[in-house]
Amino acid sequence: MTHIITSLCVRDRGCIEVCPVECMVPGLPSAEWPWVYIDPETCIDCGACVPECPFAAIYPEDEVPSAYTAKGGEFITNVGLTGRFEGTNHHGKQVVMDNARQLAAGEVIDLTPDIKPNYDFFKTGPGYSTKDIDQGV
Ligand code: SF4
Ligand code: SF4
Repeated sequence: MTHIITSLCVRDRGCIEVCPVECMVPGLPSAEWPWVYIDPETCIDCGACVPECPFAAIYPEDEVPSAYTAKGGEFITNVGLTGRFEGTNHHGKQVVMDNARQLAAGEVIDLTPDIKPNYDFFKTGPGYSTKDIDQGV
């Protein structure tokens, strides 16, 4: 099994530094790969990244919710969304995501379609190559 980063990720990057096997990779270009992605072949399911995420975006694969109920105000990011998220990441750098949408309180969304991109990123996407060109946002 592996852990999965869902579309609740807004790339604040708090998770990356704690991973003992360095298998969390920021997606680039962010319009196409908006999240940080976990290499399912390398993740050891230690769970260290989960409490580091201020946005509760990370789940064990078999616990990714099919009916996530929004608290209200949180953002999802995904290909094709057109709203904007602005925040500050763990390094104090501004994060702007132009493919975001703010959720309304009580809105229910299925996060299970987010599982496949975590696999695709390493199978058919850029994978670890983005680590070399990532600028920290
Ligand atoms: S800490 Fe959460 S929001 Fe930040 S990059 Fe990691 S998964 Fe995404
Ligand atoms: S569960 Fe552990 S090994 Fe897997 S991505 Fe998170 S910190 Fe890394």
